[in-house]
Amino acid sequence: MNVPLDDEETYDVVIVGAGIAGGILSKQLLAKGRRVLILEAGADHGDDWQTYRGYLDQFYLSLAKVPNSPYPNLPTVPSPTVLDISSVHGTAPDSNGYFVQRGPIPFGSDYLRAYGGTTLHWLGTSLRMLPADFETATRYGQGLDWPITYKDLLPYYEKAEWEIGVSAEVEDQTPEALGIHLARPSDAHGYFSEDYKFPMHAIPCSYSDTYFAKGVDGTPIATGYRPDFADEAEPGLDFVKIRVASTPQGRNSVPRVPVQEDDGFNVGGERVEPFQPRGATGSFAFKGQRCEGNSACIPICPIQAKYNAMKTLADARALAETKTRKPTDSDDTDKSPARIAEIEKSFKIRTQAIATRVELDVNGRVSGIVYKSYLFPGVPQYELRRARGKTYVLAGGAIENSTLALASGLCRSSQELGRNLMDHPYMMAWGLAREPIGAFRGPGSTAGIESFRDGAFRDQKAAFRLELGNSGWDFAAGAPYSDVKNLVEGDNLFGPELRKKLYHDVQRQVRIGVLVEQMPDASNKVTIDPAYVDAMGEFRPVISYDISDYSRAGLAFGHSACMQIFQRLGIKNFTNYNPSDNGYLTYDGSGYTVYGAGHLVGTHRIGNNPKTSVTRPDMRTHDHDNLWMVGCGSMPTAATSNPTLTMAAMAFQAAEAIDRALA
Ligand SMILES: Cc1cc2nc3c(=O)[nH]c(=O)nc-3n(C[C@H](O)[C@H](O)[C@H](O)COP(=O)(O)OP(=O)(O)OC[C@H]3O[C@@H](n4cnc5c(N)ncnc54)[C@H](O)[C@@H]3O)c2cc1C
Ligand code: SF4
Repeated sequence: MNVPLDDEETYDVVIVGAGIAGGILSKQLLAKGRRVLILEAGADHGDDWQTYRGYLDQFYLSLAKVPNSPYPNLPTVPSPTVLDISSVHGTAPDSNGYFVQRGPIPFGSDYLRAYGGTTLHWLGTSLRMLPADFETATRYGQGLDWPITYKDLLPYYEKAEWEIGVSAEVEDQTPEALGIHLARPSDAHGYFSEDYKFPMHAIPCSYSDTYFAKGVDGTPIATGYRPDFADEAEPGLDFVKIRVASTPQGRNSVPRVPVQEDDGFNVGGERVEPFQPRGATGSFAFKGQRCEGNSACIPICPIQAKYNAMKTLADARALAETKTRKPTDSDDTDKSPARIAEIEKSFKIRTQAIATRVELDVNGRVSGIVYKSYLFPGVPQYELRRARGKTYVLAGGAIENSTLALASGLCRSSQELGRNLMDHPYMMAWGLAREPIGAFRGPGSTAGIESFRDGAFRDQKAAFRLELGNSGWDFAAGAPYSDVKNLVEGDNLFGPELRKKLYHDVQRQVRIGVLVEQMPDASNKVTIDPAYVDAMGEFRPVISYDISDYSRAGLAFGHSACMQIFQRLGIKNFTNYNPSDNGYLTYDGSGYTVYGAGHLVGTHRIGNNPKTSVTRPDMRTHDHDNLWMVGCGSMPTAATSNPTLTMAAMAFQAAEAIDRALA
């Protein structure tokens, strides 16, 4: 390696990654007066409106509207894409895409390496975990217990919900309202703080959500857990009574107004002002737009009504501007090089900067991060630079954090770095309702059936949640484009007949997503191999992945639940799992197709024991006193809630710990 050039400035904290984890950390640390540098591998600053417009144009032009289709996939900074996922055959790894897949099942998720990270194309579902999820080993003999509890995270959940801007009502989100049959009913006590309120009101449920609710609320679904005891059936054990519940979402709705004028809200032990919805970053035209329900959340919200991490980063930058403003400064609009240099002493985001090695001193403390600074997006030429700080944070996502840490020879006390990679295996069921249900209206999903997220059955099969899709058979069958194609090519329909049939079918399309819990497994892992590097010479993630019988049993249960729901509602089933599908697997003689949910969890889990975990409960690494690894990679188990809210809560906790360490 050439000798790197040292950066001129030394910061208090150097953070790798400008996603939600890096955004929250920088905003919190700047608020505490710390000086922060972010190294971001991605090429663009999407918070410049022209760049975001470019993403939109790319989205409109793309044939396949997959999560990464609007964003640049450059040789300098490649991202995995679901279009590269294929079955892994034999012993040779599949290295067609960015990932090198060792199988036996392909890891089917992607993420985005660009300024703002993967929240640019997330859905925004922001559910909290359940108290039982933090101790599945004790309660169900599965997975492992966290070193922290739900109660420990409670104030940070509130802060995270106010950072993201979650739209929901507390009364809809209690375990009881969610229809969850808690195996331990006392878990419901204190799930929300007494006077807590979400920052914005709930996004209204879609017409199809109400169709489901009317038809299935209260329906008992057999768990298949103790079929011999059918006469003494017990709720939560032999059957689960389901209900449809509104989903908390990171997208703008109507902000909550305090009961009394000038009054605020209690959030994480602090009094805060009413929430101000934030709109498109870098644009004066789209400030605080409310969700318009156009259903393009994945891959891109045209008006940024949906949260993305660029909003948190913009707040951090605004904070740095305020903190560095002198009374003599004329106004906020001073964009002179001198003023920018002043702000950047406090907070700087270096894009086109790929962290390549974390350097250690003789005491095992981090002494610098070497990065590859490339001048032109897409041209794999770079100069090596070194960033220095007092404290360092890897916030590049579960897979990239581990790849970088492995490449740097970090965290060797345990064997756990890179291991225990988890996701929520995602399976779909789809059918045609008897009546129009208004498919393709509203955000991707506004409600779910959460009733299977806990229950005594978890000692034998994985818990899961059912996501009620608002966009017909989009992910399942490529609708509505595939409908047009099939009706024209297959049924030879044109003109009024084609329109009539399309109108009839498409608005009846029903899709349910089953997101299944996956437990940690040391053989599901990310490794590196010098045989597999990208155009910049960076290690590509080499992934071994499988889905255990425990999760497969949950998938089978989820499928059976969907079929029972279809039967109850008279929905004609069109679900079709094909052995040639990339994520096809079998359980108990039946076949299912699973996809990735994009929920990358594990690989540097927290724990008290340095032999069995990589990071401490506050995400500081066991081995390197001034290095933190923050992100979903620190979660010991994946539970059933989409993971970002929990990770964001943990990031708030980590920011406090980092600030204490710097004191
Ligand atoms: C299609 C899809 C839908 C999703 N929907 C939901 C949802 O509804 N709810 C939910 O909870 N979660 C959802 N997720 C997951 C969610 O997007 C992620 O959990 C979250 O974005 C992770 O945030 P992060 O900051 O840890 O990482 P990221 O958002 O991935 O950001 C990491 C950043 O670090 C940068 N980086 C990485 N390595 C380096 C390096 N070596 N040097 C410099 N920079 C680097 C990357 O370029 C990137 O910008 C979804 C994911 C996908 C793919
Ligand atoms: S439904 Fe449309 S406006 Fe609402 S968050 Fe999704 S993309 Fe944005």
